[in-house]
Amino acid sequence: MLAVVSTAFPTDWDQKMITIDGSQGEGGGQILRTSLALSLVTGQPFRLEQIRAGRQKPGLLRQHLTAVEAAKTVGAAEVIGAALGSQTLEIRPGAVTPGNYRFAVGTAGSATLVLQTILPPLLTAQGTSTLTLEGGSHNPFAPPFDFLAHCFVPLIRRMGPTIELELRRPGFFPAGGGQFHARIEPVKHLARFDLLERGTVRQRQARAIISKLPTQVADRELAVVREQLGWREDECRVEAVENPVGPGNALLLEMEAEHVTEVFTSFGERGRSAEEVARKAVDGASSWLSAEVPVDEHLADQLLLPMAVAGGGSFRTVKPSLHSTTNATIIQRFLSVEIRFEQETADVWRVVVTDK
Ligand code: AMP
Repeated sequence: MLAVVSTAFPTDWDQKMITIDGSQGEGGGQILRTSLALSLVTGQPFRLEQIRAGRQKPGLLRQHLTAVEAAKTVGAAEVIGAALGSQTLEIRPGAVTPGNYRFAVGTAGSATLVLQTILPPLLTAQGTSTLTLEGGSHNPFAPPFDFLAHCFVPLIRRMGPTIELELRRPGFFPAGGGQFHARIEPVKHLARFDLLERGTVRQRQARAIISKLPTQVADRELAVVREQLGWREDECRVEAVENPVGPGNALLLEMEAEHVTEVFTSFGERGRSAEEVARKAVDGASSWLSAEVPVDEHLADQLLLPMAVAGGGSFRTVKPSLHSTTNATIIQRFLSVEIRFEQETADVWRVVVTDK
């Protein structure tokens, strides 16, 4: 007798499909980006439901849609549900294809998060890729370009790949218009590494970026940095954007320690004084300095994925955020790794990623 099978998708699609609840834990865009990245890395299809259900405007925004489109292109993927506002998405990846690509968010949405979506599969692809990314480069609630360039990417380079980043023009909310380039020379396998100590801080730099705003805003921010952190005049710099697209301001505090560089950022916004903006970045930098751990809250949730792809690694950090624990859960749906958060002291955690 003939068995008649009738399904909407090919049988192997159904068999390997990973179903993920997008409302779990942190319930934000990271669940989507991690799923996209690891679907391409592992070749496993997935269905994501209740996308960004935990956010004020749920579903796919322009920035997320651009990440989906980028993953679709780079991963030669079949996609169902890629539309603005969509709360369900299905993806079946094909072969990861390195190449020259341009992805534009089209709004001031974060282009750095689009890069973080497609970076993992390109780190071990068959050839070099060059990318042009357009949109926001300095957005609240996203890693600013400088965090990628000076903190995150140097750690990924330790895993073997060569990555060059170049900022052509910063883009701030709401005008956008930022552009940067990335060149990625992959390796066969990512090497694992451990980041348990910070070492002494060797260099510090405060940069107050202003776009179409008076220099006085930047001067006032840097005055707070000198007063509260005791940084010297020559460690503080005002950077006015050339040919600005729209108004914007970011204060970036970078500290280069022996084993890691950390970047703490605060963004100017209407109704917030320059002093308030500065104090936020200063508070971030001060708590990292007093915690005496190499990895801050943001870097922690972002390091989990590359370490898991490498098959292992560990780092010391502050109390894990909901972003970190949620990301760990999603990563473990795609990869056969164990991610443990071990509390060492009142405010120091060790995160250990191991191959199962
Ligand atoms: P989501 O809220 O799910 O879209 O994820 C936001 C991502 O941006 C997380 O990986 C955060 O750690 C990261 N992020 C947010 N703010 C910063 C910041 N100031 N510096 C570095 N990374 C950040």
